[in-house]
Amino acid sequence: MNTTAEPVVRLIEELSKLPGIGPKTAQRLTFFLLRSPGEQARDLAQAIIEVKEKIGFCSTCFNITESDPCRICADPARDPSVICVVEEPLDILALERTRSFKGLYHVLHGAISPMDGIGPEDLRIRELLTRLQRDTVKEVILAVNPNLEGEATGMYLSRLIAPLGVKVTRLARGLPVGGDLEYADEVTLTRALEGRQPV
Ligand SMILES: [Zn+2]
Repeated sequence: MNTTAEPVVRLIEELSKLPGIGPKTAQRLTFFLLRSPGEQARDLAQAIIEVKEKIGFCSTCFNITESDPCRICADPARDPSVICVVEEPLDILALERTRSFKGLYHVLHGAISPMDGIGPEDLRIRELLTRLQRDTVKEVILAVNPNLEGEATGMYLSRLIAPLGVKVTRLARGLPVGGDLEYADEVTLTRALEGRQPV
């Protein structure tokens, strides 16, 4: 028999669907929101709605954007012959902060991870290959995270891309192993970009 009010059960259920949130955390968040001032919960709900209504993915590079194509893809000053492949949109922010990359990006939206049931078909890999076949791309920089999943993804991609006659490079070592690209500082990232190695 469940005596908890139906809206409370529903919020717990919805929160548990979020990544990294188990049933315990979902309950804690729900009761936190119940006790918090009305406007705090409303601001959160509004922020979620706005993100879904106003923000989408660039149909070319799959970066998060308010316009399609995104600001980077639409910028004539960027060099379309170099594409930097990243796992997440946040990685673009980190790389843009270095101001040392002038090419375009491609966001995979994850990395190959058999343990989490994520295969190549779950990532934006087909779309990357289409870009490489359609556009004049000379170099693909693999800027995947320096961890197991990133390595596996990089290997998989380099094997797919090499036969297309496109040069494949990867960021120089020196990024903290196991860390995420998005947390790397600008100097380290710039060095990793400049010292990139052919795969
Ligand atoms: Zn774009």
